[in-house]
Amino acid sequence: MAENIAKTGDEARGDAGDIAGSLAAVRDRIAAAAAQAGRQASDVTLVAVAKTRPEADVRAACAAGQRVFGENRVQEAQGKYPQVRADVPDLELHLIGPLQTNKAADAVALFDVIETVDRPKLATVLAREMEKAGRRPTCLVQVNTGEEPQKAGVAPAEADAFIAQCRDELGLPVAGVMCIPPADEEPAMHFALLKKIADRNGLAVVSMGMSADYETGIAQGATHVRVGSAIFGARG
Ligand SMILES: *Cc1c(COP(=O)(O)O)cnc(C)c1O
Repeated sequence: MAENIAKTGDEARGDAGDIAGSLAAVRDRIAAAAAQAGRQASDVTLVAVAKTRPEADVRAACAAGQRVFGENRVQEAQGKYPQVRADVPDLELHLIGPLQTNKAADAVALFDVIETVDRPKLATVLAREMEKAGRRPTCLVQVNTGEEPQKAGVAPAEADAFIAQCRDELGLPVAGVMCIPPADEEPAMHFALLKKIADRNGLAVVSMGMSADYETGIAQGATHVRVGSAIFGARG
């Protein structure tokens, strides 16, 4: 693997040493936040969000031991991961951006976790495509905790019914929930609401917290934090 990293080094925008150092710092802060909350560091999975970053950055993170990655666009991920995966077979890929139904088949083929199941039409198409493909990526239901009109996700009041529909009617492998709180609000109450929805539906996975607020997410019970810029640097 070291050889591959050396080969792709020229096209890297980030520096492999920086990425390894940032990853270590984020992991330390995750461990500290978990300890503070009386939890184990191993209870929290770091999803390294590599959107807009070149394959070389993903390889640098892999070389530093990172295995779980997040992408928000199907097409971008299709171009970036097949080669990396040939070298890093235990890489786990999460879709964290909105999914169009006409990309559902591609998403089912590529991703291990689809974090953004946010409407009945998409859930129905995903169930059909999983049946066809014989591949069943883990699903998270996205909840629009701030009820923002421009943001994807089911309203909190509709979450229980939608989770039941996905799980019981459509047979989707729903493992948890995710949210992106409003940018201008204190995230803690949104995270607490999401955790409550997970608990009352018997769901173990709670994906919440990004570079600016992942420690708050961990304090509120996040099992997955999605961190991009704190690892790879600011996006252009
Ligand atoms: C981009 C993105 C992230 C990571 O954001 P950073 O602030 O760079 O950590 C997390 N979750 C989602 C859904 C995103 O789109």
